[in-house]
Amino acid sequence: MGGRRTLIRAGLVVDAEGCRAGPGAVLVDGPRIVAAGAPAAIGRPSGARTVDLPDAVVLPGLVNVHCHLDLSHIGPVPFGGDFVDWIDRVRLKRAGDDQAIAASVRRGIDLARAGGTALVGDIAGAGSRIPIGELRAAGLAGVSFLEVFGVGRRQGNAIRALTEAVKFESNRDGSQDGLRLGAGPHAPYSCGIDVYRAAAELGVPVATHLAESLEELQFIRAAEGPLAGLLKRLGVWDETIFAHQAHPIDYLADALRATPFIAAHLNYVEDRHLELLADWRTTVAYCPRASAYFGHPQPGRSPHRYRQMLEAGVSVALGTDSLICLDTPDRISVLDEMRFLYRRDGTDPMTLLRMATTAGAVALGADPSLVTLAPGPTAGLLAATFDPHNPLDPLRQVLQRDDPVRWIVAPAPAGESQTGPTT
Ligand SMILES: [Zn+2]
Repeated sequence: MGGRRTLIRAGLVVDAEGCRAGPGAVLVDGPRIVAAGAPAAIGRPSGARTVDLPDAVVLPGLVNVHCHLDLSHIGPVPFGGDFVDWIDRVRLKRAGDDQAIAASVRRGIDLARAGGTALVGDIAGAGSRIPIGELRAAGLAGVSFLEVFGVGRRQGNAIRALTEAVKFESNRDGSQDGLRLGAGPHAPYSCGIDVYRAAAELGVPVATHLAESLEELQFIRAAEGPLAGLLKRLGVWDETIFAHQAHPIDYLADALRATPFIAAHLNYVEDRHLELLADWRTTVAYCPRASAYFGHPQPGRSPHRYRQMLEAGVSVALGTDSLICLDTPDRISVLDEMRFLYRRDGTDPMTLLRMATTAGAVALGADPSLVTLAPGPTAGLLAATFDPHNPLDPLRQVLQRDDPVRWIVAPAPAGESQTGPTT
């Protein structure tokens, strides 16, 4: 079809895979990139519409590898200082019926889109399949991780719920929408090792929370502390739950080794774990603002080790966790996580861009080229404002500013730009 070509000229065009030109240009044909790079190399194709964005950095859509869109109705809430108390409060505020869950997810999808999100790893709380339906209806690709809970004798129920849901999804038509169901064993204190082993055998993406808090470390080591108290209060404790005398990563080693997990947080990691996580091809879903919100890692502990993880060859991608933890009520965006790390740690912008795009896409089983400027289908293009009169590198300026991004090429309609479930 002719007449759909657009030449976008911008102050900088950049992706995480080495395409970088300032000034730069991207030639698109509908939802496909034809070429990107220096304006002279692309020229002025006849018949193409031209869009001039001299004060914008043009970059690919972003990947939020760990979020909880179904908690979006709660909005940002300050942390009271007690993790178990927080879990309790969220449980009580969680949307109860299908309509309320759907509405919360829709709000989360709108906020994620406003944040420039092209792909999500979304945790579907309480084992609900409502979120995957809403993601599908909105055309937001990625993985909906069905969250399950099951400790002690309750592990069988959790395994059954996962197995049945995966079977149901795999029977569906329309699997070319770039959206998959994944397994989401919640955390090592709320799911037993059998649930993890079963999740790892399902042949779908798997995500969990791991080594998030000192309370979790205490629980796995000694089967005591505030999280043991929580399980008892919830009436799910039984005598088959015991102390493992181990760190949660070592405790789950069998399952983590069996399939590449997405492990959220990893606030408390020992030296020896770095090599293991690299060997196991675990992706660390680092949610910097959420970690800071909860005060992790705690004083006296080493700061979050994401840079050492990267040096050790561990894949680290960015997530936001839920809107509850965020300081941006108008959007859910890993660009704000990049900004947070750039300001706090001075982390290299290109490293951050990789964490916010291709690293997450690989973890979600999507084609990472969807979130680069490589020729072919695109999961959308974003423009982020900078000041062309400021001599500082435009991408660094974007990381110093707080402006929202805007979509300049919308994500392709379902089925057109996304990879299928087997890639
Ligand atoms: Zn989470």
